[in-house]
Amino acid sequence: MLVLMCSNATEQDIERVANLLESKGFRPLVSHGEARTVVHAIGIVEIDQRDLELLPGVDEVVKLTTNYKLAARASQGVDTVIEVNGVKFGGKYTGLIAGPCTIESYDQVDKTAQELKDSNVKIIRGGAFKPRTSPYAFQGLGEEGLKIIRSVADNHGMAVASEIMEVSQLEMFEKYVDILQIGARNMQNFNLLREVGRAHKPVILKRGLSSTYEEWLMSAEYIMAGGNNQVILCERGIRTFEKFTRNTLDLTAIPVIKKLSHLPIIVDPSHATGLRDKVEPMSRAAVAAGCDGLIIEVHYDPDSAICDGAQSLYPLQYQELYKQIKQIAPIIGKEIL
Ligand code: PEP
Ligand code: MN
Repeated sequence: MLVLMCSNATEQDIERVANLLESKGFRPLVSHGEARTVVHAIGIVEIDQRDLELLPGVDEVVKLTTNYKLAARASQGVDTVIEVNGVKFGGKYTGLIAGPCTIESYDQVDKTAQELKDSNVKIIRGGAFKPRTSPYAFQGLGEEGLKIIRSVADNHGMAVASEIMEVSQLEMFEKYVDILQIGARNMQNFNLLREVGRAHKPVILKRGLSSTYEEWLMSAEYIMAGGNNQVILCERGIRTFEKFTRNTLDLTAIPVIKKLSHLPIIVDPSHATGLRDKVEPMSRAAVAAGCDGLIIEVHYDPDSAICDGAQSLYPLQYQELYKQIKQIAPIIGKEIL
């Protein structure tokens, strides 16, 4: 951050600025130019810019760096690559996660897993605690659901990704789950972000329904500030004026996030589109745009699904899609293991 002083600022004014910066934890560096004096604020601290702007002799405060430091591309030279059960997300790798929206029964998860295994799926998704818009809709099987998906995954040599909704659930999730998912509706649940920041498991951080890239990266920063660097960002569609699709998939997020951050970014075309026949083309597009992974809803029998059947692929559709994206990825220098 730079504090540009007015040309008639006094030594006292400059000293006041330097003192305030120092008291907030910055290292102030004063440079006297020909036209005016500039005070450089060096350090990773949060300050309300207005506190400086209000001081006498201050002309303008210019923010040079982003608010997110650990998540910023500038903070490390190489892409973060996150590996779970032999699947890699980030760098030159595109990782895949598939499974039902919600865990309904042992039989349902098992049948789905068996189908997915044929398509080389090594990480299965499935919600046990569901953030439903209506309090009357199925809320998930809770811990029983986590036990089911863990047991099925173990039988098939798979890892598990599931959504955590509350701070108090972390201990339970650490027992059953390999990847913690923070849903779109909880992207700014700062207490939850802090809590998973203390966990030793990768976190999928979904983009909030109306969140900007900066807000999303600030949420990632919350997790990283707690010591957990294994954050996978997930673009899952944002809310726009368009009602035809469930959300609007913002594929521009891929190149933008890649420029701003070293963290992997995956795409959820299921919640982004809400329509099965739109999931395949948008998956292909996301891989072509360089995403670091996909998380896709697949159900062994979508027509009988309790939740999100209309956007869940049939296993055969997933199999076909897998073959296609395996071919697309190498064109842009990516690899699906
Ligand atoms: C989900 O993945 O099950 C889910 C609820 O997604 P989102 O948080 O993106 O709506
Ligand atoms: Mn769903």
